[in-house]
Amino acid sequence: MVLPGARARAWGAAAKAAQRRRRVDSAGGPPSPEPASRRAAIYVHWPYCEKRCSYCNFNKYIPRGVDEAAMRSCLVTEARTLLRLSGVRRVESVFFGGGTPSLASPHTVAAVLEAVGQTAHLPADSEVTLEVNPTSAPGPKLAAFGAAGVNRLSIGLQSLDDAELRMLGRTHSASDALRTLAVARRLFPGRVSVDLMLGLPAQQVGPWLGQLRELLQHCDDHLSLYQLSLERGTSLFTQVQQGALPAPDPELSAEMYQEGRAVLREAGFRQYEVSNFARNGALSTHNWTYWQCGQYLGIGPGAHGRFMPQGAGGHIREARIQTLEPDNWMKEVMLFGHGTRKCIPLGRLELLEEVLAMGLRTDVGVTHQHWQQLEPQLTLWDVFGASTEVADLSERGLLLLDHRGLRCSWEGLAVLDSLLLTLLPRLQEAWLQKSPSPVPGG
Ligand code: SF4
Repeated sequence: MVLPGARARAWGAAAKAAQRRRRVDSAGGPPSPEPASRRAAIYVHWPYCEKRCSYCNFNKYIPRGVDEAAMRSCLVTEARTLLRLSGVRRVESVFFGGGTPSLASPHTVAAVLEAVGQTAHLPADSEVTLEVNPTSAPGPKLAAFGAAGVNRLSIGLQSLDDAELRMLGRTHSASDALRTLAVARRLFPGRVSVDLMLGLPAQQVGPWLGQLRELLQHCDDHLSLYQLSLERGTSLFTQVQQGALPAPDPELSAEMYQEGRAVLREAGFRQYEVSNFARNGALSTHNWTYWQCGQYLGIGPGAHGRFMPQGAGGHIREARIQTLEPDNWMKEVMLFGHGTRKCIPLGRLELLEEVLAMGLRTDVGVTHQHWQQLEPQLTLWDVFGASTEVADLSERGLLLLDHRGLRCSWEGLAVLDSLLLTLLPRLQEAWLQKSPSPVPGG
């Protein structure tokens, strides 16, 4: 699939225009003329990396060589097929993640965007994000991604300490990361996000805060803080298990998170989600779709999606997972047009549970309006209004239920997992009271 030059230039112009004017409001932008069932975000998974990071359990492969033309053609085919199956007419955002999608050629990114734009409406100012590893995309390549239609970058910086970067198995140094960040900001002003990890083995609060403060001297308007999750099967997990590295201390991690978010607040960043911070309105619309439980299509090996296929009766949403291994996925796409391995119908209660768990990750929470669109028979007041446990959480200043809806306070966002231990069972109970299951044999 070749992108015609004019189209590529149009995308480049669109990217520049988007960089100039695009700012997203807390509710995800102006209302779309299409109903929610006809709108979606698209996630595209590029499964290859140069090297395995020591902590990573994502679906990624370190290949000897990549047949990029075949991968490109399959990504294009699957995007077209899933758009057709879903009946989605308007694509609000596209996110190229991985793996290391900045190892792909800009031509591949352009071809996927071209296919999406031909099959559905992809507005010129849609957010198009590319994840970037600092060493995989020098300046001219970043500029070529911009010309291909990318208008936002998410840089996997992870740390500004070279010893930590080596422990994580990253291919870049702190100075590589800062250089890439400077180039990215010049090319995509106001639209560059950086990831910083916390809670690494042996990491201490003071030096980590020093990194965060240094990063604030260089970063753009979006920052994500991620706590290391030590995953079984990774080399970091083994090193900790064998005593070569100390286990991360959860109390120190919690302190880093609390202190870090306070530093960011002072610097004018809004914590709009548990791990995400933005200033000047530079929220990620793509991720906002996930947290609002909007529809999204997952394209590529191991990608996940959530949408309602056309003509699917009896349930309101399907969770889809694509085949993990790239060669097998490509064979399936060539045979069937898509590589969906698993398709799980979601009922209304499951959807409401997701709406609750995902919505409360954001500072807006779950609004009455959003909830009632999905469940007009059971309001947020019905579910939580009379609960003494919810009243207790409100009194402790962790949760708010009012005319806007249900949301966490700033303090509550930091302990969301523990709040959900109360809220999800309460929802299930209210759901059963509303629609009791038939008596066995009755
Ligand atoms: S670059 Fe990202 S996906 Fe690849 S191994 Fe490292 S953490 Fe995993």
